[in-house]
Amino acid sequence: MVKHDTKPAEAPPDERRELTFGKVWNYAPAPESTDHFAIAERYGLFVGGEFKKPKSGEYFATINPATEQPLAEIAQAGDADVAAAVSAARSAFPAWSKLPGDERARYLYRIARILLERAREFACLETLDNGKPIRETRDVDVPLAAQHFFYYAGWADKLDLAFPGARPRPLGVVGQVIPWNFPLLMAAWKIAPALACGNTVVLKPAETSPLTALRLAEVCQQAGLPPGVVNIVTGDGRTGQALVRHQDLAKVAFTGSTEVGKEIQRAVAGRGVELTLELGGKAAHLVFEDAAIDQAVEGVVRGIFFNQGHVCCAGSRLLVQESIHDLLVDKLKARMQRIRVGDPMDKNTDMGAIHSKAQLQRIRELVAAGEAEGACLHQATCALPGKGFWFPPSVFTGVASSHRIAREEVFGPVLAVQTFRTPEEAVEKANNTSYGLSAGIWTDKGARILWLAERMKAGVVWNNTFNRFDAAAPFGGYKESGFGREGGRQGLRAYLRFDGALQPG
Ligand code: NAD
Repeated sequence: MVKHDTKPAEAPPDERRELTFGKVWNYAPAPESTDHFAIAERYGLFVGGEFKKPKSGEYFATINPATEQPLAEIAQAGDADVAAAVSAARSAFPAWSKLPGDERARYLYRIARILLERAREFACLETLDNGKPIRETRDVDVPLAAQHFFYYAGWADKLDLAFPGARPRPLGVVGQVIPWNFPLLMAAWKIAPALACGNTVVLKPAETSPLTALRLAEVCQQAGLPPGVVNIVTGDGRTGQALVRHQDLAKVAFTGSTEVGKEIQRAVAGRGVELTLELGGKAAHLVFEDAAIDQAVEGVVRGIFFNQGHVCCAGSRLLVQESIHDLLVDKLKARMQRIRVGDPMDKNTDMGAIHSKAQLQRIRELVAAGEAEGACLHQATCALPGKGFWFPPSVFTGVASSHRIAREEVFGPVLAVQTFRTPEEAVEKANNTSYGLSAGIWTDKGARILWLAERMKAGVVWNNTFNRFDAAAPFGGYKESGFGREGGRQGLRAYLRFDGALQPG
């Protein structure tokens, strides 16, 4: 087990004194490690290229969900703080939007490179603040975040080629609100395409995981990004509300719950503000009897237990062809038993801490509802740490489509298993949800994959794999999973208006 320790820095680096307030602390991942990095005791707001004390004067704590220990104090931005950030973004817009695309690209490439250079620091910080395993932050979150900056840097001087004849133009100031499950990655998904298209941004990270967005602000400084092009305001839902209601925004981009997404839709209605929403999901994961069963089991595990199941596109509804149900469930239970749950900073850990007390309560409530409604609960037997927020890998069999665990997003390591007999029944059951973000298919038959993919009402359909992401691949939902696409060429559209005779198809 890796030992964790937080201890005061002997001499706070000058650079950090300028950026943040109060005493600076060093975090040492292991006593023998030289891989130290600092977490400030208190963070201000990143506005106009500088960290500033909030006009509100308010702060709140962000904690390590694996230990419940406070990591830092974070500014709670009030209305005046949000207004200052939007004003900074507005002032920066004319020069940034007129900059030739290849020059904007240079900044994005620089940010991407710095992210990779500081990858260990970002991975550790994300794991501490979020609770997800270091293996995932190291191998998925940080490299993918960098990949998004590299990818959109490549588009910055090719917007006319991306949309021939449509004369793409930037929109203006974009307000972006993101959730806690992939804090750095979501920030990259939002900021990289917006900047590539010539917009300036005000981003609000989730209140329970703000540290990597604030560190990304430092990277923007290090990359020499002009002041005001990126602004980061921290705070809870009130800060998000103040941001999306601000009259000077040209666009709002939101990732989070369907409930808040609907509220934001009402808040921007009639204002002529562009809007994209990336919301919840309840993905169907289909396994046919001809599938490579052991690979499918690995896919199912990745689909639901990756990131503790805190994944909008998690394969949370497993639909298994009836003839292989018992075999697959037995293999899954055996595999679940081998999942290592525990210290997120240990590189051997498969599943880390549940992100927050509130999320743990939500998971417990839905699991209790599953049992009360008559489904059969199977849980891995594993020793969970005494401190922090934890939940074992869990699978429900005997689930009916009417059960809450089959309809509602648990957003935790809880899988609901149902069966089907024919491909037609599989499609019907898969689409029987108010969501439409993602789906997965395991079968040996290519023709069946195409037949199913055409019929599944989901923005992403994975075939013989699950939870794979790439900056070049568009991502987004149907129905209550939202609208608009992030990633790929399609991800540019959300940050552009079109003045040409030809509108993009
Ligand atoms: P949430 O909706 O509670 O919060 C998301 C963000 O919105 C946070 O920054 C929060 O402070 C802010 N917020 C809260 N109330 C607001 C308001 N009234 N106005 C403006 N902003 C407000 O969601 P969460 O609990 O942080 O994240 C989990 C949800 O996000 C899940 O439903 C998950 O499916 C969804 N999600 C979707 C995607 C996707 O790409 N579709 C990706 C990740 C997460």
